[in-house]
Amino acid sequence: MIDTLIKTVRAEYGADGFVPLHAPLFGGNEATYVADTVASTFVSSVGAFVDRFEGDMAALTGAGRAVAVVNGTAALHMALMLGGVLPGDLVITQALTFVATCNAITQAGAVPVFCDVDRATLGLSPEAVADWLEANAERGPDGPVRRSDGARIAACLPMHSFGHPVRLTALMAVCEGWGLVLIEDAAESLGSTYRGGHTGTFGRLGTQSFNGNKILTTGGGGMILCDAALGLRAKHLTTTAKRPHAWEFLHDEMGYNYRMPNLNAALGVAQLERLPAFLGAKRALAARYVAALTDVVEVVVEPAECASNYWLNAVVCDDRAARDAVLTETNAAGVMTRPIWALMTRLPMYQACAAGPLEVSHWLEDRVVNIPSGVTAGMLA
Ligand SMILES: *Cc1c(COP(=O)(O)O)cnc(C)c1O
Repeated sequence: MIDTLIKTVRAEYGADGFVPLHAPLFGGNEATYVADTVASTFVSSVGAFVDRFEGDMAALTGAGRAVAVVNGTAALHMALMLGGVLPGDLVITQALTFVATCNAITQAGAVPVFCDVDRATLGLSPEAVADWLEANAERGPDGPVRRSDGARIAACLPMHSFGHPVRLTALMAVCEGWGLVLIEDAAESLGSTYRGGHTGTFGRLGTQSFNGNKILTTGGGGMILCDAALGLRAKHLTTTAKRPHAWEFLHDEMGYNYRMPNLNAALGVAQLERLPAFLGAKRALAARYVAALTDVVEVVVEPAECASNYWLNAVVCDDRAARDAVLTETNAAGVMTRPIWALMTRLPMYQACAAGPLEVSHWLEDRVVNIPSGVTAGMLA
């Protein structure tokens, strides 16, 4: 199996040399737009590319407003605050995620509650959330509270793992039934749709990341997706809460300096022009991986009623020993692979958090390995 895997990856990325898990691809207007910002001197927090990038992202996703920020974690922090999450609140999320999801909950002063994921989506299970609420929550005047200590349960924060959308309709029904605000961590799922709608636009707020390893990059960056009214608040809060004035320094609340520099937005505008081509190349790559590998190992494919962006391809090994053998041998052969994240409940700062049963999370944690998935120039040709 491992030999077939290495051979298949090498057929895509070249017979020798190091193959990274995911590398950015430039070659469109990136250098031109970035040079424009340098020539204009508007490299920092004000500039036309920021407005253009936000407009392009809103148009692509169908969000009422898109607000660009310094990174995906900052976008999540702001989305939680704008979603009404207060210090001391609980936020339900998945145990199997990248740590930024939980760090943002902590930065908002709230505490994560970990629920299990679905086998097919690798993301938050609506049934697991409903079960945890049934077992632990009761309805209060300001929404659900935890029975044991009265802590308010404010929001639900699913994450679309590797670009595969969670079952949003079912999850929205659970959130509506209990009065929870739905916020989507769509950092990995730019371009992914669920029943035709863009991920990140089903909840009250959604977030994107443009870190160097994501489907497209601004160097570092993030985006908040929301309606127009929340968008105004998001812009205000992320730009030091300064009231517009020609010269006065009037700030009407404690704000954040989270705005995306124009230099980064220039890269983003150029990268976004290439997103349709990237999506097509990634879908074709995923299909070739399925064709070449299915006989020897399970390849993760998009869930029903979804179009995944196939950001990172993944295989499901037989057990933890098989996983470790794949990781050891592929990396030794210069083919970069990585295991799925360690469960959040293993990390020292989240060990004490409440959690429901996590059988599927543990099962996937032992078996899932990401394989090289970057788009190369050759794949676009
Ligand atoms: C990349 C990512 C983020 C945001 O990361 P930044 O590096 O802060 O942009 C958040 N959540 C998930 C699941 C991610 O993969």
